[in-house]
Order: sequence, then structure tokens, then C-alpha cells
Amino acid sequence: QFPFGRRLPCDIYWHGVSFHDNNIFSGQVNKFPGMMETVRKITLSRAMRTMQDLFPLEYNFYPRSWILPEELPLFVAEVRVMKDSDPSWKPTFIVKPDGGCQGDGIYLIKDPSDIRLTGSIQSRPAVVQEYICKPLLVDKLKFDIRLYVLLKSLEPLEIYIAKDGLSRFCTEPYQEPTLKNLHQVFMHLTNYSLNIHSENFVHSDSVNTGSKRTFSSILCRLSSRGADVKKLWSDIISLVIKTIIALTPELKVYYQSDIPAGKPGPTCFQILGFDILLMKNLKPMLLEVNANPSMRIEHEQELSPGVFENVPSPVDEEVKVAVIRDTLRLGDPQKKKRRDTQDSSLRAVGASCISWGMKDKQHKHHSPKLSLKLKFYLKPGSCPSLEQVPGSSEALLDAEPEAAGLPSLCLKQVFPKYAKQFNYLRLVERVAALFIRFLGVKGTTKLGPTGFRTFIRNCKLSNSSFSMAAVDILYIDITRRWNSVGIDHRESGMCLQAFVEAFFCLAQRKYKSVPLHKQVLSLLELCECHLAALDEKRLLWGCG
Ligand code: ADP
Repeated sequence: QFPFGRRLPCDIYWHGVSFHDNNIFSGQVNKFPGMMETVRKITLSRAMRTMQDLFPLEYNFYPRSWILPEELPLFVAEVRVMKDSDPSWKPTFIVKPDGGCQGDGIYLIKDPSDIRLTGSIQSRPAVVQEYICKPLLVDKLKFDIRLYVLLKSLEPLEIYIAKDGLSRFCTEPYQEPTLKNLHQVFMHLTNYSLNIHSENFVHSDSVNTGSKRTFSSILCRLSSRGADVKKLWSDIISLVIKTIIALTPELKVYYQSDIPAGKPGPTCFQILGFDILLMKNLKPMLLEVNANPSMRIEHEQELSPGVFENVPSPVDEEVKVAVIRDTLRLGDPQKKKRRDTQDSSLRAVGASCISWGMKDKQHKHHSPKLSLKLKFYLKPGSCPSLEQVPGSSEALLDAEPEAAGLPSLCLKQVFPKYAKQFNYLRLVERVAALFIRFLGVKGTTKLGPTGFRTFIRNCKLSNSSFSMAAVDILYIDITRRWNSVGIDHRESGMCLQAFVEAFFCLAQRKYKSVPLHKQVLSLLELCECHLAALDEKRLLWGCG
């Protein structure tokens, strides 16, 4: 800790909100540049839509979504077509303002005409999504799961999932949505921040009861009722990996812009909060990804009217302390050394230098309390383990050898462990690699017209039926449209999503009558092949 400012570089920098520090040239930072923007409701929906276009079956864990206001006509038209083709379909939709959190501004509707487009919250861009009407209920209540995921590295991709998470309960018995109950937030929204205000909210010292429980306690119950918990875990792992695969292209563009390759800079890692809803048939559905999940292990208690005190929350402690402890253990720069010397992890982490910033750089202050707690929990303790759940998957969640005296890791590596099963989905990442290559000047996130032309030329994509003039028109059309809806107006030029759209367009034009993912793959292989030949030629010229 550096209460009076930091002079020497640190091993680990712990920022409170986002990646914002141009003065870090080494070590590790707990935030990725651009993560906040990448997981906003609209950006996430767009990234998921791209993946759903390519791999509809693999990405059916994300509810069908439309972006407002730009896709309102599309939303209205698609719902009409679906209703006409299936008159028994009586959908409900949930409208969520972009950038909102804690249930802020969210409402349910039965018909597209009920969308509210006036008023300060309503005029904000939003996502409208199919509402999952048949969630799994426990004690007649709807609940969701908050799972902690560590994105340990982007290149190479390394993902860990915490073996336990939180289940957050509604406080009114669930009924399928009707016009009468649509507005009942305590019945439909699982947000802790909302339900805490219900008189039915139950704070419990046990992890198995109350309005916030551990996910493992739910799994135990499901397992005792004969549910296939092993399959559920494997579905959740696959949901997490696929979601991160959808986010990585955008993250890589931000990364190269803030931390250019070849220049001194830190590496990044980040703890993400995945909000997942289980359907009645146990299928996990992704609701959202949180870049800055709350790591509070206390809750407020009203001692007497108007007098509040922070008291420890055992459920939060059980889950969150393990996540932070393991994140530090995995990133511990002394780890390798310790393995060699069989030193204790407590001393090794103590020997590393960690800088805690509870807020962004601008308002940095430090938290001795958190640090003390952390030291306390670095001692051996109990780790809630899914391996203890009857029927949990050993194959997916096997234990790793640990340094003596520490609980086994609660964060389990799932990528690259299961890379083989998922690598075929990483097409957009390869498109992003092309995009980054032609960005030219480091530090930018948008491609200029010259960069786009060079891409077309180097990959030999223009010909007599696709002239360079047509290339320019394609660039202008797509770029203009994306810039009119985009949130990032700092730079002009073509953003990654616009480039991806142009790439898909070129692929469809060139390879007809095969599924989109095959068209994109063929074009990628063609481009990569031409660029590899070009690189080889340049190398030879360089040597010559
Ligand atoms: P926020 O960031 O404001 O919490 P969320 O997307 O997490 O927004 O939505 C808030 C709550 O609404 C969720 O915790 C969940 O209970 C409910 N919810 C969100 N999307 C859906 C959906 N598609 N179907 C059913 N319930 C949903």
C-alpha cells in the first residue's frame, strides 16, 4: 500500500472502476481497456447478434434482442411476422436502458406499441429483449445467478470460472407475466438493489436460505431432486466461453490502442460478473456481463429507524473473498519462484507489491480495510467446492496441485483447457486481426479509407466486377451508418463492427449459397493466405 503516493512500479495494480492510467509500464492491471464499453447492454447485444448470425444454434443462450430507437421498426415488423406465423405466441418483452444498472429504468411490455419513447430515461438508447417467461423457481421465487469469471489474458485467451457464485432471489412469488403483474418488480426483477427494499427480503447468516444464497446451495437442492447438475455446469462453462469469444474482437482493438504491441506496458486481467438466468428446463441464459461487479462483503442493516450499520454478509464473504484471493494467486509474480522453493503463498503474495486504487486514478484512495481482510483470508480456509456437489463434473472441474496450506483454487481454468471445442467459433477475432493490421498508426480504433483500400488491395479482393470505386462506396455507406448509431464519436473512420459488416458483405458476395460462417471462413483463409505471402515477400526483400 502506498497511502502517500507510489514511487516504484508495482506488480499488481487494482483499480476500482476502469483502466485509466498512462503511467503504468509494467506489472499487471486488474482492468482491460474498453471493457466497460464492450459489455454495455447495446454493445453486448450487437456482439451477440453477430455471433448469432454466424452460429445461430451455438449462441441461442442469449435472448433475441433489438436496439432502440434505431431498430424499433425492425422490432415491430419481426414481432408481427412471428405472431402471424404462430398466433398462440403471447410474448413479453423487457426494455433495458443502455448503460443502466441495478434494474434502473427497466420495464416489461406485452406489445411493441407499449414502448415508451418520451421522458428522460425513455429517450435513452435501450435494448428490448424477449422476456424469459418460464424461469426455474426455487421456493416459488425467481432467482438469477451471479458467476465470477476471471479473464486472465486476452492473448493468449485464458479464462477461469469461480466454482461458486451467488443466487439472488426475488421477494414476491413468481407468476408468468400478465398485464396485471407486469409492473411488479419484486416478482420479475432479481436485482439485489431493488429487492433489498422489499419487506419480504431475508438477510440470512446461512448460505442455503434467505434472499441471497450461494449457487452451490441451489445446485445441491437441484441435485437432490435428480437434476443433471453435471450437464448444467458444462452448459454454463460453454456459455461463458462463447460470450468471451464474442467480446474478444472489440477488446483486442481497445487493447492495441491503449497498450501498443512492442512498447512497454502492463498486462491486464479482469474479474467479470456474469448474470445468468436458469430456465425451467435448466437451460442457462445470459442476461448481462458486468465489468465492475460489486465485491462488497458487507450489507447495510437498519439498527433503529434511520440508523444503519455495515454488517458482514457471510454469503458474499464465502464467494467473493475466494475470487479475489485466487485472482491474486494466479497473477502472483512470485508464484513460479514459490513453486520451486515450496515457499508459502502467504509470504510470496506479501512479498509482491500490490497497489489498491478503489476509484479511478483521478480519485484514487486506498483501502487498508480490504487489504487486512485479504491477508486474513489468504490463510488456509474452507473453499466452497462444486466437487462436493453430488454429480458435479470431475472432468470439467478437476483440482490442481496447490501450494501446501492453501485451500484449493476456487477459480478453475476453462480456456485454453477446452479450446479445442470452441476455437472454430473465433472467426470474428480473425476478422479483427485483419482490421488491426490495417489500422496503421497505433493508438487508433477506427480504419480510414486508405487503410480499407490497402486491405482490399493486399488481399486481392477487387476485380473487374468489384472496382476500387465500388470499394470506396462500400466503405462510405457502411461507415456513415455505423457512425450515426455508434457511441464513440472521438475518432472518424470505420469502427470494428462496420468492418465486420463489410467483411461479411464481401464474403457473401464472393461465396454464394453456403452458410454465412462458411463464407466468412473462406474469405478469411483467402485474406490470411495473401497476407502471409506478402509478409514472406517483404521479409525476403528485407534480407535482400
Ligand atoms: P441491470 O443491469 O439493470 O441489472 P439486467 O439486464 O441485469 O439489468 O436486468 C435486470 C433484471 O431483470 C435481471 O436481474 C433479471 O432478473 C431480469 N431480466 C433481465 N433480462 C431478462 C430476460 N430477458 N428475461 C427475464 N428476466 C430478465
